[in-house]
Order: sequence, then C-alpha cells, then structure tokens
Amino acid sequence: MPASRPRIAVVIPVFNEEAVLPELFRRLDAVFAARPHEEWITVFANDGCRDGSGALLTARAAAVPGTRVIELSRNFGHQSALAAGLADAADADAAITMDADMQDPPELIPQLVDAWRGGAEVVLAVRRSRQEGGLRRAGFEAFHALFGRLTDFPIENNTGTFGLLDRAAVAAFNSLPEKHRFFPGLRAWVGFKPGEILYDRQERAAGQPAQTFRRLVRYALDGVFSFSYLPLRLLTYSGVMVGLAGFVLGLYYVVKRLIHVEKAPTGFTTLAILVLFLGGVQLIGIGVLGEYLGRVYDEVKRRPNYIVRRKTGCD
Ligand code: UDP
Ligand code: MG
Repeated sequence: MPASRPRIAVVIPVFNEEAVLPELFRRLDAVFAARPHEEWITVFANDGCRDGSGALLTARAAAVPGTRVIELSRNFGHQSALAAGLADAADADAAITMDADMQDPPELIPQLVDAWRGGAEVVLAVRRSRQEGGLRRAGFEAFHALFGRLTDFPIENNTGTFGLLDRAAVAAFNSLPEKHRFFPGLRAWVGFKPGEILYDRQERAAGQPAQTFRRLVRYALDGVFSFSYLPLRLLTYSGVMVGLAGFVLGLYYVVKRLIHVEKAPTGFTTLAILVLFLGGVQLIGIGVLGEYLGRVYDEVKRRPNYIVRRKTGCD
C-alpha cells in the first residue's frame, strides 16, 4: 500500500537514444512537477549506448536529484536492460516501466499512479491504437493472436512494456531466476491485482527503432518457448499421425502384394515423397527440441542477465 508520500521509480532502458533524451527529460520533468505528492526517481539503464546518450544521462544524474543511471558493460538487449533497471527500483513503492522513445507518452504516468493508488497492483497500459504499419504491425498482431492460444498465461492483447508494478510485484519479478525474459508474459505470470488504462501508442519521437525486426522475432520466440509446451506436444501429435499413416500405408502394400503377387515394385514416387516428408518432419522436430534445449543450456550456465559497469546517482 502506498505510503503517505510514495516513492515512484520510472524505469527506462536506453540504447542509442540521444535524439529523444532531451525531450524525454523535459516531458518527465513536467509530469513530476505537477505531482509533488509523490517522490519521483528515474532509473535509466544505459544498455551499452554507442552515441551521446551516456553523457546526457550522467549529466542529468549530476544535475537532477533522484536520477539513477545503471551503466551496463555492453549492449545486453531491451529485456536485460529492463531487468537491470527494475533490480535497482526495488526500494520504490511502485515502478513504472516505459521506453525512452516516447511511444509510451510520459503524460500517462499520473493515470498509472492513480490506478495504483486506487488499489491495483499491476497496472497495464493498453493500446487503443498503434502507429506502426506494414510488416511490423502484422507481426505484432499475428504474435498476439498466436500467443493467446499457445499459453496458459495469455498476455493482455495490445500491451507491451508500458505499465506499473507495485513494490511486491517488482520484488517478485526481481526474484525470478530465468535468463530468457519475456516481460509481458512474466508480468501476467506473477499475478497480483490487475488494473489498466487505455492509451494511443505514439510514433517514435525521433531516431530509428533500436530493436531490429530480427530481435523482435527472437523476443517473440522467447515468449512462446518460455510459456508453452505446445510446440513439443505438436511434435508428439504429428509423430502419432505420421506413424498411423505409415502403418495404414504399410498394410495397404502388404495386402496388395498378397493379392497380386507383383514382382517388380513400382512406387519410386511414393518412396521419394515418404523419405522427403519424414525427413522434413524429423528436422522440424529436432529444431523444436533444439529451441528448448538451447534455452535449458542458457539457464543451466547461470550467467547473469547483464553486467553493470558503474552506477551513478544511486546511494
Ligand atoms: N533498448 C535497449 N536495448 C536494446 C534495444 C532497445 O535498451 O538493445 C531500449 C530502447 O532504447 C527503448 C526501448 O528499449 O527505450 C524499446 O526499443 P525500441 O523503441 O527500439 O523498440 P520497439 O518500440 O520497436 O519495441
Ligand atoms: Mg519504440
């Protein structure tokens, strides 16, 4: 429950965002200034920025109290940077997770906080609309449709990183040991009393998406493989089906042989098709097994999700 002047951390992963940071700072400051009854801190996770973002962040940390910068030793990716930021926000009463590019407008932060003060423990910002078009948008939509069917913990449609976690939910998230993190899925998995607000997702304020399409695909695969056994089960089903078909076909040939007593077997086409088809099914099967095995291997290695080079502005 909120203390009288609750401390709220805004957690923002940053990768090469020098083009948007000045505006982000300005808009955050305006939001914070309008809400003096909360104590605001910002936690920036510098995910190995190679542009001027690092300097902008440290300058802000020096100038603005309550600004923390977690500098990672290299680029670890959005999910790891988010985890680094949340780990540092453990002392806040609530943490807001958002992107640096203002696709998640900072002006919505008060609404998230009000929903939390109204009793919700995990507040999701649900997109009423989305600006992206084309392949990216189609990809997002296909993913949400598929993911909803595949897993026992469907993520709310049209939600991304943007939202608020209560202190207890942050602690729960930080205590999860896994390496392949799919934040929206884990947020659904940890539970807690939900709340939501609606918003229109904006166009990126400036710069290029730091997340390449390939990374998004990998992210989507992480989501599916870490929350569903269905791909494995499908393998079993297809094995059973192919096996049955093989049995029936075998029977057919045996009977045909007995009835006609043919000498020279035709059927090269059948053989070729069978070999290719079964080969394909087996390769897909090995691939799916490999997806799980690779993830198991990553977990077993117990390497940390990220490495911190230095922290600025943290006590
Ligand atoms: N980001 C990051 N590390 C990366 C890629 C992205 O910390 O390797 C940050 C980025 O600065 C932004 C957020 O993650 O704050 C979302 O990235 P982006 O806008 O590129 O992704 P999209 O909006 O396409 O999901
Ligand atoms: Mg973005």
